[in-house]
Amino acid sequence: MDLLVDHHCHGVARRDLDRAAFEAWLTEADRPAPGTTLFDSALGDALRRHCFPVLDLAVTATPDDYLARRAELGHAEVAGRLLRAAGLAAVLVDTGFVPEPLTTPAELGAAADATAYEVVRLETVAEGLEVGTATGFAAVVREALAAATSRPETVAFKSVAAYRVGLGLRGERPSPAEVREAAGRWLGNGGGRIADEVLHRFLAFAALDTGLPLQFHTGLGDRDVDLRAGDPLLLAPWLRAVEPTGVPVLLLHCYPYHRNAAYLAQVFPAVHMDLGLATHNVGARASAVLAEALELCPYGKFLYSSDGFALPELHFLGAALFREAADADLVRRTTENAHRVYPAVGGRGPGR
Ligand SMILES: [Zn+2]
Repeated sequence: MDLLVDHHCHGVARRDLDRAAFEAWLTEADRPAPGTTLFDSALGDALRRHCFPVLDLAVTATPDDYLARRAELGHAEVAGRLLRAAGLAAVLVDTGFVPEPLTTPAELGAAADATAYEVVRLETVAEGLEVGTATGFAAVVREALAAATSRPETVAFKSVAAYRVGLGLRGERPSPAEVREAAGRWLGNGGGRIADEVLHRFLAFAALDTGLPLQFHTGLGDRDVDLRAGDPLLLAPWLRAVEPTGVPVLLLHCYPYHRNAAYLAQVFPAVHMDLGLATHNVGARASAVLAEALELCPYGKFLYSSDGFALPELHFLGAALFREAADADLVRRTTENAHRVYPAVGGRGPGR
């Protein structure tokens, strides 16, 4: 089996989960609607078909059987089985959103028998800084990004502008005065959650200045996102503006705008895309969605990710469904593409 580089995922939960907690992590809603279960969905079908056997259950077992088997094995054994079954050379772990204790990149890598790296979320860095004054904001952020860049495990930054202000970032680099003014508004509101187009744009430019690849959340996400504003086409003016830098930009998830993302990947040399999160959600339709993305996306611009979060089932399902949808050549290509985009990523890639 050719190993995959999962270039965007998260840690897994460090506790045994009851059915309600398990299903809450399966859905982009806060929890399943009353009277419904995620086991009766495309994702549920995929879980039965791919995950049940990894825990030694028949595909005809019930959801309660599965949760009971999960509890019997314990979360660490379940995670180890599923993550190793995913066949991963390396995991690039976004550490910026931890609503409950999750495994660290090193722990996830150890459980998956893969090399672990970190993707640093820009907004989380900025929101966690001691920013005394609006005047100091830009310098303090740049220092923090430089410090993150100097850690060998950091291989990329990530922007969640899509969640906060949408992807309609302007192409111009904000002036020092504009950044100072926006930081003043933010501090005046008590700091905390950043949701200001100027600040997200400043963070994106500051990330590119480090030379590390920059991942953008686009498309599908939990209900916090305004999905209309997550269309990657909205990012085109910014992509055009930063084109001369040549720094790789990674459009994550993309669905249901994956055809739009594929267009951007074709026309902008540094733009790449993946179908993380979408792949496991669409289940048996993964091959159709992949085919739609590859209508326009050059094969050298497509990367693999799971966007697995909290449940190791999602890291495994992403890989299993992608392997089913892609031919062996594309599986190899995505790993080569990941090594090219993230030169610091080693791991057990093709021929290693
Ligand atoms: Zn993610």
